[in-house]
Amino acid sequence: MEFRDLKKQYQVLKQDIDKSILEVCENANYISGKQVAELEKELADYVGVKHCITCANGTDAISIALMTWNIGEGDAVFVPDFTFFSSGECPAGEGATPIFVDVDAETYNINPECLEKAVQNVLNEKKYVPKAVVAVDLFGQCAEYDRIREICEKYNLLLLEDAAQGFGGSIQGKMACSFGDIATTSFFPAKPLGCYGDGGAIFTDRDDWAALIRSLCVHGKSGEDKYNNIQLGRNSRLDTIQAAVLKVKLQAFREYEVIDVNKAATWYNDKLKDLNIQLPYVKNGYVSSWAQYTIRLAEGTDRGKIQKRLKEAGIPSMIYYVKPMHLQGAFSDTDSVNADCPVTEKLCQTVLSLPIHPYMDEDIIAYISNTLKEIIR
Ligand SMILES: *Cc1c(COP(=O)(O)O)cnc(C)c1O
Repeated sequence: MEFRDLKKQYQVLKQDIDKSILEVCENANYISGKQVAELEKELADYVGVKHCITCANGTDAISIALMTWNIGEGDAVFVPDFTFFSSGECPAGEGATPIFVDVDAETYNINPECLEKAVQNVLNEKKYVPKAVVAVDLFGQCAEYDRIREICEKYNLLLLEDAAQGFGGSIQGKMACSFGDIATTSFFPAKPLGCYGDGGAIFTDRDDWAALIRSLCVHGKSGEDKYNNIQLGRNSRLDTIQAAVLKVKLQAFREYEVIDVNKAATWYNDKLKDLNIQLPYVKNGYVSSWAQYTIRLAEGTDRGKIQKRLKEAGIPSMIYYVKPMHLQGAFSDTDSVNADCPVTEKLCQTVLSLPIHPYMDEDIIAYISNTLKEIIR
């Protein structure tokens, strides 16, 4: 059994994907081919945002968004403590100080109350200037944007939506990647919408930022003139072959994958409901794209033993995440270690992610659920 069955997905889409890749090979337009611009338009339409600029990966996407805002030394950027490393790595990489904020015990997304307290602390201490929030759409579910937006307006903060895991999710029909002043996503193969290598994208409604982002992705070029470099940028582009793959996969994603992965989650919820574990919690009006199906075990449960027994039954499982961000060694000599995040610390000890993807049938989920029941009881 695969944790995320990309082989099966390929078998289903093989004819179209092969044709799409071969077309790129035949035209030899490997960089910035027409498929890239076509994909950007399709992604922007799907999300409901004016501009989409693709780039090399989701980490670059975050860094380039921060570069667009000129965020750097002396700036505080608020980041959830429970996320993948990039969310905090990028602000630190730009010279800013990530301030790690505790998450909600049910959604696992940044806790708006803790966010406001953290902003006030930074304002009181006067060592850093609060500049931006990186809100993460963890495991497929959008963060609580109505409240986060209020806080950003109150304290004049820019809002970056890290939707690397949230692409395809929505709140009352409004799509992930449309909530931030700038939003970013990742097409790493195991993300909700993945390509066949690394890839990423940046979304914004602002024309001036979109132009700057396009420039930053190609060595700080001036307009369409690649050899007139008006600022320092990156070399961060999505390969045409990846765009060709994504054009096919986006269609399947829109037509049935998000629906089917939600069916899988509903089967799990139903079959695991009597067990003494905390099931994933999706807020009313929210749709998750289920980057992960993450349960929380009772405190004191031997998680290692459960993983071992699952593995013996042929079931892969993962721990997202083992460590709170503020305890990562990379931040050990910085002010970022000073975070008060008891919920994150507990989550890191108790979460367990089970296989989930759109190509699972109910029997497999019954097998996983029954196996887990036998182990826990
Ligand atoms: C995967 C991920 C990223 C980074 O994306 P890459 O394409 O792997 O660079 C950033 N943020 C979050 C929350 C992620 O899960």
